[in-house]
Amino acid sequence: TTVSIPDSPPAVRLTGGPPPGAAELESRGVAAWFGDRLVLEDVSLRMPAREVTALIGPSGCGKSTFLRILNRMHELVPSASLAGEVLLDGTDIYADGTRAQHVRLRIGMVFQKPNPFPAMSIRDNVLAGLKLAGVKCDDKAALVEQSLQRAGLWREVRDRLNAPGGALSGGQQQRLCIARSLAVQPNVLLMDEPCSALDPTSTRRIEQTIAEIGHEVTVVIVTHNMQQAQRVSDHCAFFLAAENEPGRVVEHGPTAKIFGSPEDERTHDYVTGRF
Ligand code: ADP
Ligand code: MG
Repeated sequence: TTVSIPDSPPAVRLTGGPPPGAAELESRGVAAWFGDRLVLEDVSLRMPAREVTALIGPSGCGKSTFLRILNRMHELVPSASLAGEVLLDGTDIYADGTRAQHVRLRIGMVFQKPNPFPAMSIRDNVLAGLKLAGVKCDDKAALVEQSLQRAGLWREVRDRLNAPGGALSGGQQQRLCIARSLAVQPNVLLMDEPCSALDPTSTRRIEQTIAEIGHEVTVVIVTHNMQQAQRVSDHCAFFLAAENEPGRVVEHGPTAKIFGSPEDERTHDYVTGRF
């Protein structure tokens, strides 16, 4: 007899969580301002479900701003404003009556610097996102295991779930943050340079995790590491801001095309390290 192994573990049931599965994200004509300064213009990108989209480009061209627009964190900056639409499976996340907190539940975010609650146990760190969002789960132990499994951390911490999050290494802390984001079973996971603060070994482990969760949720990752973009992403968008100009997407497409045969000379120069 053969035993079939499912692609992903069956999801632990949540009450009050996002609808199950991955969702497509699409921006249409997005522009962003801080005060009266336009920093991002006309960004129209489709980020397909269950695929990894990498945002690449030099510092200051608006990648982080765009990522924060995708889960309504941009509006937390008092001087910030925006134009355009962001569609999650076809529905505008900025539509009247849509709550930002609900959007952020469906679209999770992992930051450059790992930010677990250092004094809180590993177990409670994983569950912290549920508490904040008012999501309930009948089988917390199973959810903790599933989330840590998906983040590639379970085997390392299964015997010390009561240890504080701050006792883990930097790479483990980042995987704990990924587990915390995954615990609410989001439809999309945004990652802003998740490996920039980590050593090469931790980086490779997180890339492995991204490759795996990229089949289950929609992932959008900002990275400065061109090898990483090639290893983890299916699609790439190259952002660039000319001097005193807002950031724009110069070119986007399948990762193999962006790196192998880009249309725009500026893309070619950037991906080959010429500026
Ligand atoms: P990237 O992530 O590509 O490096 P950012 O999105 O962080 O770029 O920044 C884009 C532009 O917006 C930069 O010129 C930056 O200085 C400006 N900016 C970012 N955050 C703020 C903020 N909170 N207030 C004012 N300007 C900001
Ligand atoms: Mg940034």
